[in-house]
Amino acid sequence: MRASSIIVAAGSGTRLGMSVPKAFVPLGGRCLLYYSLRAVTSVEEIGEAVVTVPAGGEAQARAEASRAGLAIPLKVVTGGAERQDSVRIGLALTSAEAEVVIVHDAARPFAPPALFAVCIETARRSGGAIAAIPVADTLKRMQDRTIVATIPRTGLWQAQTPQAFRRDLLVAAHERATRERWAATDDAELVERCGGRVEVVDGSPANLKITTTADLEIAELLARRSSTQG
Ligand code: C5P
Repeated sequence: MRASSIIVAAGSGTRLGMSVPKAFVPLGGRCLLYYSLRAVTSVEEIGEAVVTVPAGGEAQARAEASRAGLAIPLKVVTGGAERQDSVRIGLALTSAEAEVVIVHDAARPFAPPALFAVCIETARRSGGAIAAIPVADTLKRMQDRTIVATIPRTGLWQAQTPQAFRRDLLVAAHERATRERWAATDDAELVERCGGRVEVVDGSPANLKITTTADLEIAELLARRSSTQG
C-alpha cells in the first residue's frame, strides 16, 4: 500500500448551534467532512483513510466519502469523548505498514492537497510536521474583561491541521499520553512532550477552522469562490 494513512477527525466537536454535528454541517451544498475527503483524493501518497464520527454518523460519512470520489480503503469508526480520544481510536485502525500518519480536522474544509503532501514529505524526513501560520494579532491575557498581560507575538504561530508524524512516534506518543493522563488539543503536543521533533510548514489563513457561525459564513464565501473558479 501507499506509505501514508490519514485520520480525519470528524467526531463530536464543538457544535455550531445546529442540530447536526459540526462535521455534517452544510457548506456550499455539501457538508464540512466532504471537503477534507475530496482533498484526500488528490494526494497520491495517502493509501488509506480512517474517519472518526459521532455515534450514528457512520453511514453519512461513507456516503460523503463516495460522493467525494474517495477510492482508497476507508474505515469509519465512532470517535471518543475528546478529540484526542477520537484520534487514538482512529490510530489503532491505521495499517501498521503505514510509515506516516496524517491527522486532519474535518472542521478545516479548505486544506489544499499540496499541504498534505508537504506535511507527509517533511514528517518522513523529520519525524513530525504540522501546518501553521504566524500570529498576526497582538495577544492579550485577560481576567474579568481586563488585560493583565500582553504576550509578545514574536515567534508565535497558530497550529493548524494537517499534522503528519511517523506512525511509530505517534503511536508511542498516544500510548504515553494514555498512561500518563496527558490531555492535549493537538497531536503535535503529545509528540513534543515525548521529545520528538516537529517541523512547521507554511499553512494558510484560508485553511480556517470552523468554530463559530461567523467562520461558517466566511467559509460559504470561500466555497462559492472556489466553485466558480472550478
Ligand atoms: O471541537 P473542535 O472544533 O475543536 O474539534 C476539532 C476537530 O476534532 C473537529 O474536526 C471535530 O470533528 C474533531 N473531534 C473529534 N472527536 C471529538 C471532538 C472533536 O473527532 N470528540
